[in-house]
Amino acid sequence: MIQTLKNYFGYETFRPLQKDIIEYVLQKKDCLVLMPTGGGKSICYQLPALMCDGTAVVVSPLISLMKDQVEALKANGVAAGALNSNNNETENAEIKRACLAGKLKLLYISPERLLSEIDYLLRDIKISLFAVDEAHCISQWGHDFRPEYTQMGVLHQRFPNVPIIALTATADKITRQDIVKQLHLKDPQTFISSFDRPNLSLDVKRGYQQKEKHKTILDFIDKHHGESGIIYCMSRSKTESVAQMLEKNGIRCGVYHAGLSAQNRDKTQNDFINDRVQVVCATIAFGMGIDKSNVRWVMHYNLPKSIESFYQEIGRAGRDGMTADTVLFYSLADLILLTKFATESNQQAINVEKLQRMQQYAESDICRRRILLSYFGEVSEQDCGNCDVCKNPPEKFDGTIIVQKALSAIVRTNQQIGVSTLVEILRGSFSADIVEKGYSELKTFGAGRDIPGRDWHDYLLQMLQLGYFEIAYNDKNHLRITESGKNVLFGRSQASLVTIVRSEPVTTKKRTKKVVVEKELALSLPPTENENLYEALRSLRKELAAQEALPAYIVLTDKVLHLLSISRPTTIEAFGNISGIGEYKKQKYGKDFIQVIKQYVEE
Ligand code: ADP
Ligand code: ZN
Repeated sequence: MIQTLKNYFGYETFRPLQKDIIEYVLQKKDCLVLMPTGGGKSICYQLPALMCDGTAVVVSPLISLMKDQVEALKANGVAAGALNSNNNETENAEIKRACLAGKLKLLYISPERLLSEIDYLLRDIKISLFAVDEAHCISQWGHDFRPEYTQMGVLHQRFPNVPIIALTATADKITRQDIVKQLHLKDPQTFISSFDRPNLSLDVKRGYQQKEKHKTILDFIDKHHGESGIIYCMSRSKTESVAQMLEKNGIRCGVYHAGLSAQNRDKTQNDFINDRVQVVCATIAFGMGIDKSNVRWVMHYNLPKSIESFYQEIGRAGRDGMTADTVLFYSLADLILLTKFATESNQQAINVEKLQRMQQYAESDICRRRILLSYFGEVSEQDCGNCDVCKNPPEKFDGTIIVQKALSAIVRTNQQIGVSTLVEILRGSFSADIVEKGYSELKTFGAGRDIPGRDWHDYLLQMLQLGYFEIAYNDKNHLRITESGKNVLFGRSQASLVTIVRSEPVTTKKRTKKVVVEKELALSLPPTENENLYEALRSLRKELAAQEALPAYIVLTDKVLHLLSISRPTTIEAFGNISGIGEYKKQKYGKDFIQVIKQYVEE
């Protein structure tokens, strides 16, 4: 197993659970694998596929994902192909022929194709195993239900002796049971790996309004100069307007949402994969189909509707194991809108509950990673040190007067106002609406002028979280003071608020210093690397990628480039010893890369 791993993928060791899973699959038993995005699921079925006779059939919901996986496999010298509607019929015929001749180790196929080939191609070839990728799509409890997945139950009826390995990055208990039931898995073992992704930093920015968001985004991208990232937005129009703002500031970016033609969406995706645009502004639809390993950051312009979606989206950063940064903007306006959607949805109870868990994450004043991990049923003993709460522990102060001002304004309008009007009253702004309703005559009008509007939004979120007022979602989102709010208003109890810190948390300017290498390697490698060498290797990679019309990260990952620039191998043998370089890439690329390294070392 280890030899096959090194030979094809260039790795010396397995990640936790990979070995157990592979051994289990090799015994021809069914199993369900839950691992976070970037956790290393693919190898769990690719390695058995390489070790068994016949062809492994991999069911995958997205064509782009198949393309990426097939390219990556081929780049490692593995015979793989994909049958889907994107190919022309000649290509498909060729792939079928290769399958029938027993030449393909892995065949990727869309669920529709699978069903139409079940009595034809699949009957005539030797199938080593079935892998069902993104298996949560089978369940309507999951967040990404795909009706065409539900017929997959026929697999075991037609092929009772071929093992099935189902894989997903997100599945709560109900979804998990649903997958097992619908695929008719036989006494499956469930393998659940840790969902921790310590290389992702976590940061929440609370109460920001548009202008401040934009400034923060631009600063952030500036610090990540040239590095790929995704900005998730709640609406299509938001993706467009954020993209425009970025373009205006000289940042190349693409837009991705369901309202665009398939052609435009493909273009954005390809531009991103091939580093022709740095940023993609997208609705949640984007990203499931990409394996781009060097996404270095993810931002959420709006609050996501559940922790599952959030975690999957940030999981698209840092798949190569190197550090990546994530930022979530959290505002009351989003919360109100999402609550409305959730209460009006079909599965009201579930959706409201999911949103509340998301809200707890955003409002947490304890280590955020602990909240995420506990959501996935993991207990962590320690704070992570890589989230904003750990980096800047919140400090509290006596905020009774601030709270009283806000609550008093709510009471004086007979609880007939929402958040933005409240802030206008507190700040003393003479907008037409305020004057017309007579709010400018109130005693509290302008009572909070000393506090900037953006800070008011932050404090109001805190007050909501502390339960001093509620939002009447069924009555124009007006604010309603609660019993505990009254206690503070009438001086019967004190309110403690968290000090607002606006300073930017430290993000690293130079990605080159933050290599997260697998532990064993970290011990044997000098901690320094040279940026010039790294850049030279990067431009060689770009050149080779262009020659082959492949994305750069498929030629070699960022991590491999960093390892090369640290250990500077000057022989083909030494080049092949780098983690992530298998036999095929060693032979194919070794000469070119060591030439650049030699030249550098001599200079
Ligand atoms: P997933 O499908 O779970 O999102 P992948 O299978 O794409 O994750 O793996 C994520 C990254 O981790 C890939 O770059 C892969 O090559 C790498 N990887 C997987 N297994 C190992 C391993 N045993 N050692 C080092 N890197 C690994
Ligand atoms: Zn933390």
